[in-house]
Amino acid sequence: MVHKFDAIILGAGAAGLMCAIEAGKRGRRVAVLERANRAGKKILISGGGRCNFTNVHCSPEHFYSANPHFAKSALARFTPSDFTALVEKHRIPYHEKTLGQLFCDRSAQDIVEMLETECRDAGVQIILNSKIHEIRCADGFIARTESEEFQAPVLVVATGGLSIPKLGATSLGYDIARQFGLNIRETRPALVPLVLGRKDRAEYCDLAGVSAEVEVFADHSAFREKMLITHRGLSGPAVLQISTCWREHSTIRIDLAPGRDATLAIREAKERNMAAARSALQVFLPKRFATRWLDLHAPQAWTNRALEELEREVHNWVVEPAGTEGYEKAEVTAGGVDTDELSSKTMESRRVPGLFFIGEVVDVTGHLGGFNFQWAWASGAAAGRAL
Ligand SMILES: Cc1cc2nc3c(=O)[nH]c(=O)nc-3n(C[C@H](O)[C@H](O)[C@H](O)COP(=O)(O)OP(=O)(O)OC[C@H]3O[C@@H](n4cnc5c(N)ncnc54)[C@H](O)[C@@H]3O)c2cc1C
Repeated sequence: MVHKFDAIILGAGAAGLMCAIEAGKRGRRVAVLERANRAGKKILISGGGRCNFTNVHCSPEHFYSANPHFAKSALARFTPSDFTALVEKHRIPYHEKTLGQLFCDRSAQDIVEMLETECRDAGVQIILNSKIHEIRCADGFIARTESEEFQAPVLVVATGGLSIPKLGATSLGYDIARQFGLNIRETRPALVPLVLGRKDRAEYCDLAGVSAEVEVFADHSAFREKMLITHRGLSGPAVLQISTCWREHSTIRIDLAPGRDATLAIREAKERNMAAARSALQVFLPKRFATRWLDLHAPQAWTNRALEELEREVHNWVVEPAGTEGYEKAEVTAGGVDTDELSSKTMESRRVPGLFFIGEVVDVTGHLGGFNFQWAWASGAAAGRAL
């Protein structure tokens, strides 16, 4: 049996649900086909269960893409205030944590329920446990699941990226893009912990759990936030952020004392020695990390010149990660459907009328801090208003 709709949306995640709401409100008959047994599974685990649903400082500079201008139009037409207005309409309590990040007070469940309610009110049908077997082009698009066929003149691909496969991530979105001849920018795990090489791991990873405020640099980007030592490498917000710009076989640079004169106290100490150095570094690094780092970067002497060198090293700890923790641990997938293929106003394919791509499957990747959801809402709304 063929079920006919005005629009079929693949994926009941953040972008797919927002798109469905906007299209449904405009009177379109919308079906959302979702592979999992419930909608918004990734939203539920996001932000440590409290969903960092947007960021009040959101601007196009918070996104990476081969075309940095692409996201501007959608972001301007659906802003963080538009999303918070929806959150407030549903009386969901929320708070600003740090750096403009908005989180639910209670749980991410509030956001999923809000989106489901909006879908219901807009007459959207969410069809769960729908495994897509085939997409065909015939009088519009046909999506075939195990037992049924759905037909519509419009197909919106909102199947997300490859991160967290155990939550049901699949490559369907990229496969459909390939099927229709669209270019894909190489995908890679992003917002992901970095794994250290064998030597660095042996030297630092027994300190797992230790964290410090640092500034991390790679490929013209810099982030000043917390870094965390893990059992296999480095994590924490600063490292997750920089992981998006890091490429294999390249280095990252870590300033362990951003904005500080790290060796002043040693230079002014009565006696310049390791004890003075340790207490100087412990002002800004946890004790165990300061001691270990100094053992491995002990100054050659206690002369002014040697201390200048130590100062330089504290601000320029260069590390060559061996890799990342991969899609299993990545918050997002960088790369994806090439933005050159899509209209920045509507997210519709330039080559294949009626075919849209939204959310993480597109080559737009946000910084950590609510920006990826804002892209999902904004790109979803842009497409939904064009259906
Ligand atoms: C642990 C974790 C925490 C995060 N926390 C935050 C946060 O706090 N703030 C933030 O901004 N971002 C966060 N993110 C990133 C954010 O979740 C994503 O950027 C966002 O969910 C992308 O939305 P999307 O709709 O494009 O994809 P998704 O939300 O991943 O939705 C895609 C949907 O498509 C479905 N699907 C996939 N394949 C198929 C198929 N073959 N057939 C049918 N359906 C399919 C999936 O089951 C899923 O429901 C987090 C990510 C992770 C992994």
